[in-house]
Amino acid sequence: MRASSVNTAILELLGQEHTHLTAQAIYENIRERLPAVNPSTVYRALERLTHAGKISVSDMGSGAAVFELVSNKPHHHLVCQNCGKTMVLPHQSVAPYFDAIQAATGYKIYTNHLILFGCCPDCLALEKAQPEE
Ligand SMILES: [Zn+2]
Ligand SMILES: [Zn+2]
Repeated sequence: MRASSVNTAILELLGQEHTHLTAQAIYENIRERLPAVNPSTVYRALERLTHAGKISVSDMGSGAAVFELVSNKPHHHLVCQNCGKTMVLPHQSVAPYFDAIQAATGYKIYTNHLILFGCCPDCLALEKAQPEE
């Protein structure tokens, strides 16, 4: 098994799914295409691709880190800590704050995948409907 074919399979998978997958989910998917692959080959390839800046890794609160293609449009997420629902925030909605922080501090911000934890409107409504006694 050539490492480059595993890299290619990972990049194709993340590119086509346009989503965030755990290392486990990526391995299971790659195994369907390349039955001879073993998990450590996939995990090492994920590490290499992360260091090379081709994919990003984030903690979205599900307990397992998720991988995503870096060439996807920059975006951010809201994650409900109660039900686990996630919502995508386009970068434009956050960009003014980044600009203001950069102007105020002189930093150049490289963060391109913010994960904001909170409680979604549905869960807030449920909480209101069932007040604690
Ligand atoms: Zn994302
Ligand atoms: Zn929720």
